[in-house]
Amino acid sequence: MTTNNSTEQRRIAIIGGGPGGLTLALILQQHGISSTIYEREHEDLSHERGGSLDIHEESGQLALKEAGLYEAFLQAARFEGEDFRLMDKTGTLYLDEVADEEISEEQRRPEIDRGVLCDLLLNKLDPSTIQYGYKLEKVVSLGEGKTELHFENGHLTVADLVIGADGAFSRVRPLLTDTDVEYSGLTMLELNVIADKHPDLAAFNARGKMFALDDHKGILGQLNGNGRIKVYASFNASRDWLDEIRNDNPQEMKATLLELFHDWSEPLKNYIRYAEDAVVPRRIYMLPVGFRWERNSGVTLIGDAAHVMSPFAGEGVNLAMLDALELAIAIVRNKQTPVAIEEYEEKMFQYASEKAYVSNENLILSFSENAAPKFAALMQSYQDLYEQQG
Ligand SMILES: Cc1cc2nc3c(=O)[nH]c(=O)nc-3n(C[C@H](O)[C@H](O)[C@H](O)COP(=O)(O)OP(=O)(O)OC[C@H]3O[C@@H](n4cnc5c(N)ncnc54)[C@H](O)[C@@H]3O)c2cc1C
Repeated sequence: MTTNNSTEQRRIAIIGGGPGGLTLALILQQHGISSTIYEREHEDLSHERGGSLDIHEESGQLALKEAGLYEAFLQAARFEGEDFRLMDKTGTLYLDEVADEEISEEQRRPEIDRGVLCDLLLNKLDPSTIQYGYKLEKVVSLGEGKTELHFENGHLTVADLVIGADGAFSRVRPLLTDTDVEYSGLTMLELNVIADKHPDLAAFNARGKMFALDDHKGILGQLNGNGRIKVYASFNASRDWLDEIRNDNPQEMKATLLELFHDWSEPLKNYIRYAEDAVVPRRIYMLPVGFRWERNSGVTLIGDAAHVMSPFAGEGVNLAMLDALELAIAIVRNKQTPVAIEEYEEKMFQYASEKAYVSNENLILSFSENAAPKFAALMQSYQDLYEQQG
């Protein structure tokens, strides 16, 4: 006799096919457990699906190992992308780190573009697992752990376990809490420079990341695997400011940025001048540090849906993949869904709140007075700690 809670029969619905949702479905697949991912977008085979991400040993890399993708990841990853330059607005360098070839691959934090990472996961996933063009509209709790899912395309289904992996503006989260994301006050305008067209800036940026922090603002550059330098012009702005400039054309937006950074060094202003004519405005949102929700016996969240934070700890994708690993292991271990959810959430709330705290501290520091030397000191303290721990 089988029961509704048996591993074999559970209908597992994962909302969102980003790095978190894909990793979860793949690790479950590795353990012979099927699930369905509902993704709002249509299939996209281009690699232009987000910027470069560094994948950490204790989280993202661990999940890739469990998913059977570690070797493939090492082939695709860019170790030189770890290079890091830190300066102030005059271009005075505080750090100029070149990736250490000597340390083992596992101890490093190689970079991979989000689209390449998603493709690695997708290529190993049974294609029937993912349903494209399914935008979740609302979720309704039916009791006894069952949840009804309503999609914008008219599809309706019931699941025994629903996992919200649908990012910062999760449609699953409202079933668990009234808490919503808050605007952090930081706005980023994302630009793209084609490195080959601008060898002077390519040399200035070098192989990895460049952070220029000063006057409560920042220009962040990051060379991606596709030869583009992704640029984030970052500053505090009121919520309305972005709405006001949103309808400006890209040249007008770039002119506004050049005005905002008028007294920054010429190479730094070149990140704006040389950018192609596409500007993506982003407000940085976050959930409160230490955020948790009332337990539901058939619904949980992973990744940004559970703990979106500012990108200043570089943890977002790593946590999404660690959540996927922890939840998958809990599902494999426990036939009873509520027990699996409890086991996963208790662990996740703890580590996610620690990372959210660090991310928030880093955000405050990065946009404070004399941010570049302070950021350099912070990086040095991490390095000292790392060396002490051997
Ligand atoms: C500017 C910037 C820089 C960043 N830099 C870094 C970094 O250096 N390192 C790092 O670790 N992290 C970084 N991050 C964060 C990282 O991108 C996210 O934390 C990570 O992508 C979260 O993965 P996820 O799978 O939880 O969600 P997402 O990647 O947001 O994926 C969610 C998926 O759900 C789908 N979806 C959304 N709503 C619905 C719906 N209603 N129905 C169905 N599907 C839906 C979306 O289409 C998407 O495919 C950065 C973020 C930003 C904004």
